[in-house]
Amino acid sequence: MPAKNVNDVISLCKRRGFIFPGSEIYGGLGGTYDYGPYGVELMKNIRESWWNTMVYQRDDIEGLDAAQLTNRLMWKYSGHEASFSDLLVECKKCKLRMRQDKMADQTKCDTCGSADLTEPRAFHLMMGLSVGATSDGEINAYLRNETATTTYTNFKNILDAVPHKLPFGIAQIGRVFRNEISPRGFVFRMREFEQAELQYFVKPGEEEEQFQEWKAARMRWWIDELGIPAERLRFLPHEKLVFYAAAAEDIEYEFPDGFDEVEGIHSRTDYDLGSHTKSQSEFDIKAKVMDNKDSTMKLSYSDPQTGESFIPFVIETALGTNRTMFAVMCEAYTDEDLGDEKSRVVLKLKPRLAPVKAAVIPLARNVPELVGRAGDLVADLRKLHIGRIEMENSGNIGKNYRRHDEIGTPVCITVDHQTLEDGTVTLRHRDTMAQERMAMKDVPARVLELTANS
Ligand code: ATP
Repeated sequence: MPAKNVNDVISLCKRRGFIFPGSEIYGGLGGTYDYGPYGVELMKNIRESWWNTMVYQRDDIEGLDAAQLTNRLMWKYSGHEASFSDLLVECKKCKLRMRQDKMADQTKCDTCGSADLTEPRAFHLMMGLSVGATSDGEINAYLRNETATTTYTNFKNILDAVPHKLPFGIAQIGRVFRNEISPRGFVFRMREFEQAELQYFVKPGEEEEQFQEWKAARMRWWIDELGIPAERLRFLPHEKLVFYAAAAEDIEYEFPDGFDEVEGIHSRTDYDLGSHTKSQSEFDIKAKVMDNKDSTMKLSYSDPQTGESFIPFVIETALGTNRTMFAVMCEAYTDEDLGDEKSRVVLKLKPRLAPVKAAVIPLARNVPELVGRAGDLVADLRKLHIGRIEMENSGNIGKNYRRHDEIGTPVCITVDHQTLEDGTVTLRHRDTMAQERMAMKDVPARVLELTANS
């Protein structure tokens, strides 16, 4: 543990049905990926882990799922329409297009090494759309490029419906779209991806303390909930802050080819609610914001004790679930030497994250009594509602174990001839390969114990 080479993980993703290239049969579409049977499950479990920690375990955070199609004005006032761009440099020799700030050497092409490069020009990352029958093809909407802005614009709706005192937060998980210049690193940089973001609203003056608390809380999630060892995670403060920010740091994970960003924690002052609020002049907005004559809602907070209305400050935590899943897979990927020139690949995921919780394997597929007993056990395990339970009816137990090791199934249960005599089965543990013989009726409780909270 962990993977030594990202290519091993990428090839496992395709071979075992986690992730496929988007639009593959038509030659693909850069920066898009489709999630297969086990990718869907792993993503769902990562999302649930985040939601559980951020929403269910607290009293001060509400959930939201906003539309991905958004009014153009949202991005005018957020500042993205004017400035959400990267500097693009093209190699005149091999025509490669590169993001200037990600080039290995800004004087040379990353691929062919030529110094014959175009001047950098701004490349817009927002995906504009023409929505509705009367639009005549002009851009009147955007696919959102982050969940955050759609959370700010719902601040008042949520506060009116579910009253809260500051500090409180709104959590959102959803798809976002960025026209990245050079999608790369498999699902590391995509054009369509999913974010899990929290916007936490605080009283001005409390932002530094809250920023530190959120940094610690988010790091704890990576370690305790995803099972990543602390030594492969670190904080990296941003070198340059955007003009309105008070602080910003990334959490970085050590991928096989080095540390890279997996999550950002940002202290954003009153820029966001201040930009989108109606009647800006009524408030003492600290950040420099664009004059807004279009907004129809005041995004302020009234202090119940003093009666004072003001624009709260924001602490944001932002991660991409696709990139998170990739980090989790790199960490879990283990190429294990079993001696005698034998080896196995095993995905040592935390059982709670595993795509399949348990597989039931009848030792022979052509013995109806065995298949019948296995089917009964599958039905009992499914009643636990712990996620996917698979029946493996191929009759090749070695192959079944190999497949389930590679997709990270914590336990496999084999039904054999002895089962018909004494009602016992064999339960095999993924990580140790140890086997225990137990009564079939005790299996559901044991599986629950081994997978639900670990
Ligand atoms: P970068 O500077 O690398 O373009 P960013 O700092 O703009 O990214 P944020 O907007 O803060 O990224 O997004 C928060 C998180 O979303 C990142 O930490 C990352 O996990 C994820 N993310 C951002 N861009 C992408 C992408 N193109 N593909 C997949 N995940 C992404």
